Amino acid sequence: MRVVPWSQIKSWHCIACGKCCKHYDVVLKFPEWLNIVKTFGINFTSPSISKFFLRRRTDGSCIFLYETRSRSFCSLQEHKPQACKLWPFKISDTPKFGNQYKATYFYRNRRLFVYVDSACHGLRFGEPSKEFSYSVLPEFVEIALGLQRRQFKTTALP
Ligand code: SF4
Ligand code: SF4
Repeated sequence: MRVVPWSQIKSWHCIACGKCCKHYDVVLKFPEWLNIVKTFGINFTSPSISKFFLRRRTDGSCIFLYETRSRSFCSLQEHKPQACKLWPFKISDTPKFGNQYKATYFYRNRRLFVYVDSACHGLRFGEPSKEFSYSVLPEFVEIALGLQRRQFKTTALP
């Protein structure tokens, strides 16, 4: 995993390649786990000693991944875990991954540190665009802070 500060990203747009749904474990918060178990059953999750995860198929892909010939989609939508909504961004109150000046992002006068996993295929590197800085990133931040759940900019369109 190579993580870069948000200020090195020109734009982000999910191209529904499905990479993030095929190679990573998705950790569930307890209420998310409970909701999925109640809705779909226990077999759609997998536990470890201290965490709950979404279940993965034998090929490593998430059990809720739905693929067409050219694109990949999430069939979980209304129940999508926060970890999936935030991918590939990592938002925190502390400069977890260093480079604090370039990672600083102010949201309503609150100083946050925003990083991006460079493995995502939807990233374009360069000077941040206005759309990215003032429209896309705030939605990620609001989801991270629990201020909103709906996704408009932070997911691929069906
Ligand atoms: S978030 Fe990135 S890696 Fe995941 S499906 Fe979209 S473009 Fe691909
Ligand atoms: S829940 Fe949806 S977005 Fe998250 S890994 Fe599974 S298919 Fe991908």
